[in-house]
Amino acid sequence: MLANDAAVGETFGIGDIPDTDVIFSKGIFEAEKFLFDNQPDLLIIDRAFLEYNGVKFDRISRLYTGIKFIPVLYVGSKSDEEYVLLSHFKEIVTFEAGESDQMLSKAKEYLEPSVRVRFWGVRGSTPCANYENIQFGGNTSCVEIDLPGVNELLILDSGTGIRNLGNFLHRKNEYNFIGNIFITHPHWDHIQGFPFFKPLYSSDNKFTIYLPEQYRGGAQEILSGHLTKTFFPVTLDMLSAEMEYVTQGEDVTNFGEYTVEYMVANHPTKTAMYKIKLHGLTIIYAPDNELPMKSTPIRFIDNFKEFVKDCDLLIHDGQFSQKLYEQRVGWGHSAWERVVDVTKKCNVKNLVITHHDPDSDDDLLHKREEMLKQYEGDAFESVSLAKEGSEIRLPIKK
Ligand SMILES: [Zn+2]
Ligand SMILES: [Zn+2]
Repeated sequence: MLANDAAVGETFGIGDIPDTDVIFSKGIFEAEKFLFDNQPDLLIIDRAFLEYNGVKFDRISRLYTGIKFIPVLYVGSKSDEEYVLLSHFKEIVTFEAGESDQMLSKAKEYLEPSVRVRFWGVRGSTPCANYENIQFGGNTSCVEIDLPGVNELLILDSGTGIRNLGNFLHRKNEYNFIGNIFITHPHWDHIQGFPFFKPLYSSDNKFTIYLPEQYRGGAQEILSGHLTKTFFPVTLDMLSAEMEYVTQGEDVTNFGEYTVEYMVANHPTKTAMYKIKLHGLTIIYAPDNELPMKSTPIRFIDNFKEFVKDCDLLIHDGQFSQKLYEQRVGWGHSAWERVVDVTKKCNVKNLVITHHDPDSDDDLLHKREEMLKQYEGDAFESVSLAKEGSEIRLPIKK
């Protein structure tokens, strides 16, 4: 945890949380040095810190990949002029100067041992790095699941978002990675970032790539077909990491710390909806799946409901609105309204809608998220739209 100065930490009792290292930073230079090499679990910042260091801090949070994932406890008010300098952070909780108990208990909540799900790319179809999309993000599908106490990387899809994940790992100066990358299917938006993932170019690292069998072959055939000199200058044999390619079946596979299985999605090519079980939690990742309005394909909706039942986190395709969906039936993507309707009685605890259409700008997505909030409480504990740079923490079950 990084607290911006000892006075703030002491006032709020932050230094007393057991098993927690608190780095008290007196100023921006110390803070920057620490943030360059580390990814703290939590940041505590007050208005005075931003008043003196805000512009520099804003620059750091833009340039250092991954910083925006860290939750911020802000001592001040949203109406502070300086508050805008935190705009890159996706999770900010504000406290008044007197609210030390509330702040301490929120800090403890964030610091509980948790599985962390990070969204590196949430866009469907094509990257769209436009100004009007910057809050939800322009990179295509990539999610990282960070398991407490495990050094292996667990990555879902390798859309353009995976490039930033590679840069983040470089910033932290970590080497000797072992990683599993589960690709749902080989459409461009799920593999386009693959050759830009820097850890693939170091012989210290070992990666296994998983992909469901496709009409034209297994994992290795499909990826090597994509990475030929005609389409891209790098071919698979030019990757320096130790690589293995696995054509993944639907059945449960045990990876020690977690298990993976999948159901085949309703999508134009064979596509996995991965179910990952770990630390007593169930996470389902289904970025491309059309939930039809009718009961065709036969029993698909029933089987899907059974598959997602009781999961802790469902990350699901909601590329279209119902109105747009009606013009795009059979394209392989869902209307967000339909996702809510189908899953609301399945005891899904947290629903995150992803794979946003490249033409859905921030204004539209903010309005959509407002509409989704009405389902929080009854049907789901939380419902949200995936944002690039956001992290979900799921406390592990004993
Ligand atoms: Zn897609
Ligand atoms: Zn697709």
